Amino acid sequence: MFDLSSYNTFNLAVSAREGLVVSEVADLENLPLPLEEPYIILGGGSDVLFTEDFVGTVLINRIMGVSITKLPRRADSAGALASAAAAASASSASSSDTAASAAVAFSAEAPVADASAADSYDSDSAFEYVVRVGGGVVLDDLIAQLLKEDICGLENLSLIPGTVGAAPIQNIGAYGVEIGDFIESIEAFDLRTGETKVFTAAQCHFGYRYSIFKEPEYRSLFITHVTLRLSKTFVPHQNYAGLQSMEFKDAFAMRERVIALRNEKLPNPKYVGNAGSFFKNPYVNADVVAALQAQFGTKVPCYPCEDGRFKLAAGWLIDKANCRGLKHGQVGTWGKQALVIVNLGNAKPHEVLALARYISAEVKSKFGIDLVPEVRLYGKHGEIAWDQI
Ligand code: NAP
Repeated sequence: MFDLSSYNTFNLAVSAREGLVVSEVADLENLPLPLEEPYIILGGGSDVLFTEDFVGTVLINRIMGVSITKLPRRADSAGALASAAAAASASSASSSDTAASAAVAFSAEAPVADASAADSYDSDSAFEYVVRVGGGVVLDDLIAQLLKEDICGLENLSLIPGTVGAAPIQNIGAYGVEIGDFIESIEAFDLRTGETKVFTAAQCHFGYRYSIFKEPEYRSLFITHVTLRLSKTFVPHQNYAGLQSMEFKDAFAMRERVIALRNEKLPNPKYVGNAGSFFKNPYVNADVVAALQAQFGTKVPCYPCEDGRFKLAAGWLIDKANCRGLKHGQVGTWGKQALVIVNLGNAKPHEVLALARYISAEVKSKFGIDLVPEVRLYGKHGEIAWDQI
């Protein structure tokens, strides 16, 4: 049996029949393919709830390495970026991929791909940076290391737990920024066929906590590398509370502020087992918002979306359903953010599930709104849909 307690941030004592830590692509190429079902791919285990022991194989992504290619910014840079990603792929394959360490290992900056074009620019804003990252790199380590090189864009995602390979699967987001906004391409190894497939950002169909990699037919894809397109020009995204009306001299200052906000409000999974936001924010029609406003006044947090609907704050609904700070046995909801379910010590999977069901039933009965987990649920034989559990 393979102990999963240190591979899920809920810190639940669960196990799998077998576990394999993948530190380079060759580990995947050496597997007997198609890989015997059932199997699950894990990054940091920060967005999963194991509802019981898993009878299959768990593959843990620890492919490391970061390579950076500096390119002149162009109005239409898609072609140039694609070739830079391919060049980075070739140049980093031997060195960076084997850098299996907690720290992010950067390869030497690749030469500017088109030096003659680069000569005609003289400021950082004239360049962009194509950053190819091993799927097992910890996202927050990457953000910190990129900022040391003044490469920014991801600072609002600071301190989100998890790995770079897992980040695009649910298109993680925070403080008005989503990882999908910066993705150039994704390389994935198919555990059925042994093929390596490359997806452009458009092919990933990024949406709110969504990409095609969540669909069952893409379940056999192990994301080995993610290529991001970033810049040294700091563009502050500060329309969220806590960031508004503030001056940020650079992306590092923004990162510090985001870290402070998160530390203030969210439990650190190093000390309190949790999987971040347990439920997604519901999207509703204007009549639902009007009904809430009739009950609670105009202070109901809601955000208009492009499709005419409104995003509600799941944490606020849970709070108003009197579920903030709840304790049920060894599980509870976090007092400063009701959207987070926490392991208060020795929680059992069924306790987490029972509390999640209770919260969702309370919100449904009070507001008629269905909450759906953002956290992915894994049972004995693999992933389970919320409505089938
Ligand atoms: P908050 O500021 O109390 O806001 C509650 C919800 O309202 C958020 O979920 C957010 O949606 C939405 N919201 C707030 N201001 C908004 C604005 N100006 N425009 C559009 N939507 C707005 O939330 P919080 O718990 O302190 O979290 C702050 C940020 O960190 C949020 O973006 C949240 O998603 C993120 N976060 C992410 C994770 C994760 O696991 N990925 C965990 C915890 C927090 P969005 O969630 O769509 O941003």
